[in-house]
Amino acid sequence: MRRSLLALALLSASCTTQTREGMARAETAIAKALISDEQEDAIGRQIHAELEKGTPETPPVRYSTDPVVTTYINNLTAKLTPYADKDRKTAWHMHVIDDPKVVNAFATPGGHLYVYTGLLLAADTEAEVIGVMSHEMGHVVGRHSARQMVNALGLNAIASLALGENPTTLAKLAAAVVGQGTMLAHSRSDENEADQYAVKYAAAAGYDPGGIASFFEKLKGKQGHVPQALTWLSTHPAPADRITKVNQAIARQGLAGRGEIGAGRLEPIKARINATRPVSSR
Ligand code: ZN
Repeated sequence: MRRSLLALALLSASCTTQTREGMARAETAIAKALISDEQEDAIGRQIHAELEKGTPETPPVRYSTDPVVTTYINNLTAKLTPYADKDRKTAWHMHVIDDPKVVNAFATPGGHLYVYTGLLLAADTEAEVIGVMSHEMGHVVGRHSARQMVNALGLNAIASLALGENPTTLAKLAAAVVGQGTMLAHSRSDENEADQYAVKYAAAAGYDPGGIASFFEKLKGKQGHVPQALTWLSTHPAPADRITKVNQAIARQGLAGRGEIGAGRLEPIKARINATRPVSSR
């Protein structure tokens, strides 16, 4: 009950806030306070089921069954989670989606991380993959999905979900989130926060934290040529100031030029993905 009282207090505070941005911030705070870890877990599992089933707008995803590729990603995840868990203890679930044409990765509530094989093919170094993965972990640590859930269904539905008033809300929420093209774009401030987590976790795991910035630069360069494939870039617009902010954080923390890029380790994985890829998609 304490949660709903807090929500009420936040809601009344938000009513006096005039700006849309202020309202959005208040709604996010309410959603973060309302949604428990157990509910996040249930939502994450429901979204996972929806992704497998597909929706009228999105075909079912196919997971990679190549143990070399999945083990590789699980090992990278294991390098990052000890540091992410210090900020928010999470039961992480890693999923590799076998779709070499899609350059994308996203996180859902409950610590589910999804990486497409197309993103691995688009990256040049392990440090870039680590940069994207730690950025997505940052969205989970920062509870950024709360905002997406409010966007998908509205604050009333989220409140009724939190109070257990309407058991179909969870299914509706998962369908809405998946149907709207998988994980909606985050707010600018949530993206910046996730970038800061990316720098922090990548560096802590011994990697060059510039991987996230170099991956952004790379996608920007490819933008005009294969626009439809660069889903991650479309939900992660990379204005120059964002790359600058990442580089400033790296400089401020004395991390420039530090850490490894994992040279040579991504190539065999990419070769493996390419070898099992249908000829039509090469
Ligand atoms: Zn993001």
